[in-house]
Parts: sequence; C-alpha cells; structure tokens
Amino acid sequence: MIPRTLFSPDHETFRDSVRRFMETEVKPHDERWQEQGYADRDVWLKAGANGFLCASMPEEYGGAGADKLYSVVLMEEQARANNSSLGWGLHSEIVAPYLLSYGSEALKKKYLPKMAAGEMIGAIAMSEPGAGSDLQSVKTTAMRKGDKYVVNGSKTFITNGWNCDLVIVVAKTDPAKGAKGTSLVIVDGAMKGFTKGKRLKKMGLKGQDTAELFFDNVEVPAENLLGQENNGFIYLMQELPWERMQIAIAAAAKCEAALGWTIAYVNERKAFGKPVASFQNTRFKLAEIATQVQVMRVFVDRCMALLLEKKLDTATASMAKYWATDMEGRVMDECLQLHGGYGFMWEFPISQAYVDARVQRIYGGTNEIMKEVISRSLGLGGKDA
Ligand SMILES: Cc1cc2nc3c(=O)[nH]c(=O)nc-3n(C[C@H](O)[C@H](O)[C@H](O)COP(=O)(O)OP(=O)(O)OC[C@H]3O[C@@H](n4cnc5c(N)ncnc54)[C@H](O)[C@@H]3O)c2cc1C
Repeated sequence: MIPRTLFSPDHETFRDSVRRFMETEVKPHDERWQEQGYADRDVWLKAGANGFLCASMPEEYGGAGADKLYSVVLMEEQARANNSSLGWGLHSEIVAPYLLSYGSEALKKKYLPKMAAGEMIGAIAMSEPGAGSDLQSVKTTAMRKGDKYVVNGSKTFITNGWNCDLVIVVAKTDPAKGAKGTSLVIVDGAMKGFTKGKRLKKMGLKGQDTAELFFDNVEVPAENLLGQENNGFIYLMQELPWERMQIAIAAAAKCEAALGWTIAYVNERKAFGKPVASFQNTRFKLAEIATQVQVMRVFVDRCMALLLEKKLDTATASMAKYWATDMEGRVMDECLQLHGGYGFMWEFPISQAYVDARVQRIYGGTNEIMKEVISRSLGLGGKDA
C-alpha cells in the first residue's frame, strides 16, 4: 500500500487519543443516541475538555491553534468508529471558521470559547423547504430596522439543528438583489421568535439531530451580522474547498474501515465448508475494492496537501467530494453483499455505514451540483456554460 505522508508523529499521537475517546466515550452510548435521535450534551463537554472541538481555532478563542490535519484526524477517527451522531465537523470546521473569518472581535469572544468548550453547539442554516441546491432563491429575510435585523422564514435539514445554541442563518437583506442581497447573521438560541421544529426522521444518521428551524420576527442585534451586509454569498463560496474536502475525508476513512470489517468477516464466515474468503468472487471483489479505496486515499490526501498550501481550487475539491462519495456508495454496497444476510442486520457496522453513505452524495452540495461546478472549469461551450 502507498504510505501516507500527511501526518507527523504528533498527529498520530493525537489520533491515538481520539481513537481511545471514540472507544470509551462514544461507542458505548451510540446505540442509545440513535434511538433517541441525538447525542447527549455531555459528550460535547467531554470533547471540549479534551480539545476535540474547534481544534484549529486560535488559542485566544479557546481553540488549540492546531493545523487542519488535527481536524482531519478527528474526522477520520469518527468515520472509522462508524459514528454519525456527532455533528462535530460542522460545528468546528464550518460554523466556527465563519465566525473567526467574518465575526467582529466581540462576537468571536462571545461565542468561540464556548463552542470550543462544547458549552454551545453551532449550526448553519442555508437550506429551506423550497431552496437547497438553488441557494440564491432562499426566502428567509433579515431586514434592517434601526440597530437590529428582523429575521423571518424557515429552514430545514439543519445538522445539529435541535441541539444548537447558535445558528448562522443565510438570509436576504436585500431581496430584490438576489444572491447579491444575501447576508449571514447569527441567531442565538435564546432569541425570542426563534423556534426549533421536530427532529427529522431519517433513513440514516439516526443519532444526528437534523431539524427544522423557524424564525418569526426574531430581532437580532446588528452586530450579529457576519462581515459586510449583502456579501454573504461571497463568504459562502470562499470556504467551499475545505467544506467539500471534509465530506471526501470521511468517505475515504469510512471505505477503509468497511474494507477492514469485510475482510475480517469473510475470513471468519464459512459456506460450503470453506471460508467465504476462499471464493474467487470474494477475492476479486475485495481486490477491486482495495484498489478503489487506495486510489481514493491517494487523491483525497493529495487534495488535502494542496488545501494546506491554499492551492486547492473549488472544482478539484468538488471532484473529491463527488468521486469519493459515489465510490463510498459502491464500496458499502459491495461490502454489505459479502456479509450476506448479516450485512442487513443493524448490529453489523456495514449496515449502518451503508445507510449513512447515502446522504454523502446529497448534502454539502449534491453530486450533480459538483459535476456542474467541475464542468464549468473545463472551458466547455454551450448555452449553460
Ligand atoms: C442529513 C442532512 C443534513 C443536512 N444538513 C444541512 C445543514 O446543516 N445546513 C443546511 O443548510 N443544509 C443541510 N442539508 C441540506 C442539503 O444541503 C440539501 O439537501 C442539498 O443541498 C440538496 O438540496 P435539496 O434537498 O433542496 O434538493 P434539490 O435542490 O431540490 O435537488 C433535487 C435534485 O435535483 C438535482 N438538481 C438540482 N439543481 C440541479 C442542477 N442545476 N443541475 C442538475 N441537477 C440539479 C439535485 O442534484 C437533486 O438530485 C442537509 C441535508 C441532509 C439530508
């Protein structure tokens, strides 16, 4: 196998501690979290105390000031542990960075240390019942009224939505201007008129509190605006490579884990008096999967290295997101098949990994939107180009 070159011994030491945390503080509770539909608050506090939240935030805001590879380790180990209940990646590496990049000093001091400690959980609300891929058509508004913005509208499919204490809301501050009239405002869980809907019942990610959010004349102090008014869309575009990579990183780690579970299973399981591993079909399928997973690993790591050098463009990150998650779907399907009926049983990790993989092709921008972005970088002609 091609050795990985991204990580230093310090990253690997950190990996050991995350792995231990997953074993002792996460795995024993995950079944219950899946049944209740959300992870306990307690695990967020413990993660905060261990430095597992907002690791890349500067120390002055409660983070560890670590490089992004520590966050990659966290994402990989969560995937390896087959956990989809914890919305830590979104909290630490999507929500917190918007605050860090575009929030005022007062906002950063108010929210980031609490997010790093796990005392506040963050969410980002872009999608609406009528607007997902086409974010320009969001209907939620944040209209300026004196020293406040008045927010009205509703959002759906929001990760960490039910448990969140603060949410970055994508809203129109000048609806007539479309995308150019879009802003990002922070709504605090305590604000009047902000309500959370039910936790959505999903085919996978069962321990994740994905929810609807409602805003009814919520008065938000003007200082809760991130960056400049009407620049929200520009900000949303800027972090896309990193956000897309996070999905690809999880896909690659999950595929490696699934390959490991499947090899162990087929070596153990017997049919016709022989290990399932001895059938040529099993051997060839696993040879194919191992090759696909290796190719994915090299591509994802190379993209990550480029991202660290600030050289990863959005089209290439979109390739990583689309290709890795499409491959994840295929790998999970083949691995499940090699488990036979046991693969369909929830107690086998491949079963959960199979259903959890499905949404990877949908959220973070659907894979069709990824192809749209990639195709725009190819210099193609035609009316839509
Ligand atoms: C579990 C989960 C968690 C999520 N978490 C969050 C979150 O935290 N915050 C948030 O804001 N959103 C979140 N989302 C929403 C997610 O980002 C959207 O579901 C996604 O962007 C797709 O939008 P949509 O569901 O409205 O589908 P639509 O946009 O209605 O798409 C329907 C179909 O049409 C296709 N399509 C649309 N436009 C085009 C086009 N131009 N060309 C070709 N095909 C196209 C799509 O690819 C898709 O196949 C989450 C979703 C899920 C399921």
